[in-house]
Amino acid sequence: MQKKTHDTSMLAEPGDRASGSSAGSAAQWRARDLAVLWHPCTQMREHPDTLPLLPIERGEGPWLIGRDGRRYLDAVSSWWTNLFGHAEPRLAAAIYRQANTLEHVILAGCSHAPAVELAERLLALAPREPGRPPLSKVFYADNGSAGVEVALKMAFHWFRNRGESRRTKFVALEGGYHGETLGALAVGDIPLYRRVYAPLLAEALFAPSPDAYLAQPGQSAAGHAEDAADALARLLDHHPGEICALILEPRVQCAGGMRVHDPVYLKRARELCDVHGIFLIADEIAVGFGRTGTMFACEQAGIAPDLMCLSKGLTGGTMPLAAVLATQELYDGFLDDSRERAFLHSHSYTGNPLGCAAALATLDIFESDDVIAGNRITAARMAELALPLASHRHVADVRQAGMIVAFELTRNGDRSTPFDAAARIGLRAYRAALDRGVLLRPLGDVLYWMPPYTVDEDALQLLATTTREAIDLAIAEAACA
Ligand SMILES: *Cc1c(COP(=O)(O)O)cnc(C)c1O
Repeated sequence: MQKKTHDTSMLAEPGDRASGSSAGSAAQWRARDLAVLWHPCTQMREHPDTLPLLPIERGEGPWLIGRDGRRYLDAVSSWWTNLFGHAEPRLAAAIYRQANTLEHVILAGCSHAPAVELAERLLALAPREPGRPPLSKVFYADNGSAGVEVALKMAFHWFRNRGESRRTKFVALEGGYHGETLGALAVGDIPLYRRVYAPLLAEALFAPSPDAYLAQPGQSAAGHAEDAADALARLLDHHPGEICALILEPRVQCAGGMRVHDPVYLKRARELCDVHGIFLIADEIAVGFGRTGTMFACEQAGIAPDLMCLSKGLTGGTMPLAAVLATQELYDGFLDDSRERAFLHSHSYTGNPLGCAAALATLDIFESDDVIAGNRITAARMAELALPLASHRHVADVRQAGMIVAFELTRNGDRSTPFDAAARIGLRAYRAALDRGVLLRPLGDVLYWMPPYTVDEDALQLLATTTREAIDLAIAEAACA
């Protein structure tokens, strides 16, 4: 092995850490980062010339403070995880307390208060449906994708335990997203993430998306959702006895471009799953915890799923944790003398006490700060600020579900003239917004607002002004390129 010498030439001097330091120190930091880090979801070749790399020193409410001393509004809640702003003292205190008591313990064979209390509280909050037994068991994982894997494996294994071994398929929605691990990727339909790995993926069946943006001219969102449900019904009819579950993101397909659908689709999907005797898996990893106006998005359709995946906002954006809620019927299907019929799935950090403590403190804040009611007011203000952009000549659609607002940019401001991907409008808007102190991270040519719930009026106004400027600049820049 080659002996490593530590090259310190790139290291910032201690004095550089002070805010307001020169651009030189930020450049040095970038070099140090790029020497060792491989960033997620990034073509590393684009760093740092095409894609700026933003060194962040600390967070404060909805703001990120860069090593250059500049403040950036975190308009994407740090990949949709943050609910109450950065460095929230109550969450920090809960994690600190727990770290001083019990930081982690194996959850196979052991039990601890944070895991049990959190399960009790999540189940009490979970969506309910008259006449349907409630979700009644919680299985923990440590990130969203792992939670999705748990739900898929549970659904498949439950049928297997019943001797229905022909049921090996999952139905998912076009434009859906459920994470990056191979099982989760198999039920996702975002070509950029999926296509390369397709040879490795389990077979999934994709049903047309209820996405209201895909409605025929003159058709209502509900009308399109009904059509999509009819298509789902036909798909299920074609595969009797082959399907384990339907997995979907209720109300908003987030990674697919913040595409919003009418809740009637969820009602119909629930009915169809019952008719066909398959499980409904609600992936509420992004939409859960108040993001779309209710604690969980399923509530807006008055339905309860058989399995519900939670992560992201579960810990208020502080710790990686996921929870999969399951019905008693699912749980009972694994009780047996045989160990092979058990759900022999685990992660080293399953039910991590620090994550559970952060999640409990998050639920406390929902109660003490009446978060859902506050979000209603903030969401109404976001709607007002978004309205003028609806008539922008390059905005084809403005859509909202609670604390998510999205703007679809197209060449002529209609649905039939998407920008050429090579124009990289979204990337240009991202850079323009960063220059103005706002971290927007568009999905293709969809710009969206998904700020921490604690965002105030000044920050919202900055967001609205910057969004307009970023759109105009991106399009002007692309025209010159
Ligand atoms: C982010 C996301 C996931 C994956 O969660 P990770 O923690 O990033 O693995 C799954 N489903 C949905 C709907 C998501 O938005």
